[in-house]
Parts: sequence; C-alpha cells; structure tokens
Amino acid sequence: MPLKIIVVGAGIGGLTAAVALRQTGHEVEIFEKSAFAAEIGAALMVCPNGTRVLSRLGFSFKNARAGILTKINVMDGQTLESTAAVDLSRAEEMFGAKLWAVHRVDLHKELLRLALDEDGVGQPVKLRLSSEVATATTDGRIVLKDSSVHMADLIVAADGLKSVLQKIVTKKAEPPTATGLSAFRFLLDTEVLKADPKLAATLEKKGSFDVGSLQDTHDPTKVRYMVWYECRNGKTQNFVGIHPTREVNGDDQEEVKAAMLDEFKHFAPELLEMIRRSSAAKCWPLFVHEPLSNWYNDRVVLIGDSAHPMLPFNAQGAVSAMEDGGALGFLFQNVDDAKLIPERLGVFQRARADRVARVQILSNVKLGREKEVEEQVRRYADPRGSSVPTNMVEHVAHDYGYDVFAKCDEIMAASLNSHVPA
Ligand SMILES: Cc1cc2nc3c(=O)[nH]c(=O)nc-3n(C[C@H](O)[C@H](O)[C@H](O)COP(=O)(O)OP(=O)(O)OC[C@H]3O[C@@H](n4cnc5c(N)ncnc54)[C@H](O)[C@@H]3O)c2cc1C
Repeated sequence: MPLKIIVVGAGIGGLTAAVALRQTGHEVEIFEKSAFAAEIGAALMVCPNGTRVLSRLGFSFKNARAGILTKINVMDGQTLESTAAVDLSRAEEMFGAKLWAVHRVDLHKELLRLALDEDGVGQPVKLRLSSEVATATTDGRIVLKDSSVHMADLIVAADGLKSVLQKIVTKKAEPPTATGLSAFRFLLDTEVLKADPKLAATLEKKGSFDVGSLQDTHDPTKVRYMVWYECRNGKTQNFVGIHPTREVNGDDQEEVKAAMLDEFKHFAPELLEMIRRSSAAKCWPLFVHEPLSNWYNDRVVLIGDSAHPMLPFNAQGAVSAMEDGGALGFLFQNVDDAKLIPERLGVFQRARADRVARVQILSNVKLGREKEVEEQVRRYADPRGSSVPTNMVEHVAHDYGYDVFAKCDEIMAASLNSHVPA
C-alpha cells in the first residue's frame, strides 16, 4: 500500500518533494495557502547539485526556458570594466551537472507539470489551493485555517521561511539574527535594454548568459553589490543585489527604486538607468538562522526554508530544498508500511542535517571568506571532527558537485547493515 503523504506548501521544496514522492509510488496531496500556487518573483540560479535532482525527476529545462550560465564576469560597478572572470563552462565536467538560470515562475510551472500530469510516473499529486494550514500534530494531522482536519501517514512541512509548522518539530522558537544587510531584486525586459544603445552596450560588456557580478569599488568596507543575469531564453534581465539595510517599504516598487538609486548612486549611470526602467522591484532585510538540531518529530518532517533558511550569497537555498525533496523520494522507495516512517526520517536527518548546516553557515559569508566561519562549519563536519574544505575552490566544488542520492544511498546502506544480526 502506498503511503498517504501531505505536503504543506507548493513552493520549490514542496513541489520537488511531491514529484519525487509521487514517482516513488505514494499518494501525495499538497495544501497551499495561496490561490494560484504561482511563484512570483525573479530568477534564480540552479547550481549543479539542484540540477542533478531536477534531471532525475524528468524536469525539462527547455520547458522552463532556462539558460546555461558559462562565466562569472566580475565587474567594477562604477566603470563597468571587467576585473576578474570565473569560467563556468566546464560545470558539467567539474560538478557532474549544468548550472542554469531560470525564472521562478517557469521553474514552478514545470514542477507543477511533473506533479499534476495524468501521464507521469505514479499517481498525479492532488493540489489544494487557498488552503492555509494553521497547525499540525505529530501523529499526522493538519488543521487548516477553516478548522478542517486532514490526516496522512506523513506530513512534509515545506511552508517556507515563516513556517508555522517548524515549532511543531523544534518545540521552541529559534529567533533569527538581523545581518544589517538587505536584498533587492528587479527585472528588465531585454527589448527595453536593447532599444537604448548605451544600455545595449552595457549588456554586451557583461556578456550574454554571463553572470555579471558588479562590485562596489567606491566603498569596499560595505557589503554592496549587484548580480545580473538573464532568464526566459534571454528575454528578461534579472538583477539581485545586497546592500546595507535602510528604512524602506520593500513592497512599494517606486519607494524601492528611489532607495536603490540612492544606495547605488556611485554606480555607472547605465546601471542606474536600468533601475529606473525596471519592473518588479522589491527589497527585504536578511537574517541569519542557526542550524536546527532536529528536522522531524514523529510523522512531521521539515524541508526547504522551513528547515534551513539561509542567506542568498551562495545561491544554495532553493537547490538545498530540491536536495531535500529528492532525498525524501529516494529514501521512501519501497516503503509500504507507515511503521517504517520514523526510521526513514531518521535516515533522512542523518543524510541531510550536517550537510545543510555547513551550507547554511557558509552562506553567511561571501565566496572567498570561508575562513571566517571555519570553526562553526567544523562542528558539522562529516564525519564529525574531520576537516572540511575551507578554501573557495574546494568549498564550491564540494557544495555544487554534491550528489544527494549517493549520500542517501550510503547512509541507507549503513543503516540497513546496522540492522543485520551478527
Ligand atoms: C534575493 C534572493 C535570491 C535567491 N537566489 C537563489 C538562487 O539563485 N538559487 C537558490 O538555490 N536559491 C536562491 N534563493 C533562496 C530560495 O529563494 C529559497 O531558499 C527557496 O525559495 C525556498 O523554497 P521553499 O519551498 O522552502 O519555500 P518557498 O519557496 O517560500 O515556498 C513556501 C510555500 O509554502 C506556502 N505556505 C506558507 N505557509 C503556508 C501555510 N501555513 N499553509 C499552506 N501553505 C503555506 C507558501 O505560499 C509557498 O508557496 C534566493 C533567495 C533570495 C532572498
């Protein structure tokens, strides 16, 4: 008998888990609070560790209009001159999978297709929209805002950064620490950019499908930079930036634009013009979250941002959520008895928690500054007490090349062996 599994939240983590668990043969139902289950927002990088998971699930990067990123072009934000370059063209050779840029809406749509498709592997996932979950109990019940109760063998809590189910597992609130930094994002239609010769020349300097990393050379004591890349088959330019936090209504696009124009006023005039002409501008403060010591309690398991919110410096949040979803699907293969759930969740936590704690801590610093968090990372070394890669190249290779399925396989085999009578 397949397990009945409830997934709370149809974000990147929830949908990946739903697809993986569907394909493994289980009966999956998602409860999503929003009405359309359509992600809004901008683009994100799917690093090779995430690509590995999506590819296994049959995700079509073509359907998602994703583009392969081949270079990081480090540029002076003021002069737009290139100061360094990181070659990503060998990502597949180095990390075992490609590095993509994709718009969240397109990523979401393709994951939804895999979840709901009548012809896919396993039973189509049931998706309940406008269904906000108020709480859950560890024996496998969720209670919706409208007071209705639903039961399953397993509850996968993928309800994001502001998770209501996290405390069901951790039993105590874990308050985050403000970093003093904020993130902003905006989008720009490529046609708008190409119609203006100066802006078109700036795009050429960055390089099509290169990641532009625009550094603040004016005041290097402050963390202030922009990352710029394309998505939607080159039709949309995506910008994300980090800057010291300032008072602004982050949901008011005009207020955000005005604040960014002031914050980046010493950057090249072409970049400021792009901010003026942009759409979907948004800004929000960033917080550091300590790794959780527990990811599950009886039949409720946390995944994605509800388990491990992290700063966006290393582009590892969504792909870690994908790793979680892929791992659950892998570990719940051949499970047809609900009694096995606590044991499998134990294996899941062993396979995931230390790995993600390292990624979470390394995400607190910019690439190249891993030394600053070395001691914290060491606490979660695998195996505990061993050394961890701390130079940039090793760290990147380790994180981006991570094969979650191989790790699950290893932990599963060790767990089964420990049950074999001597
Ligand atoms: C500026 C920025 C740039 C980033 N860039 C990258 C990148 O390049 N690469 C990368 O890998 N990551 C990136 N990330 C991180 C990434 O966005 C997150 O880690 C990822 O979206 C987490 O996915 P999730 O499914 O856990 O949560 P979410 O995507 O937040 O999904 C949670 C879902 O749960 C639903 N929900 C919430 N509460 C309830 C409830 N009570 N009941 C029912 N449903 C509920 C929500 O409506 C939502 O649909 C970036 C983050 C930021 C801030």
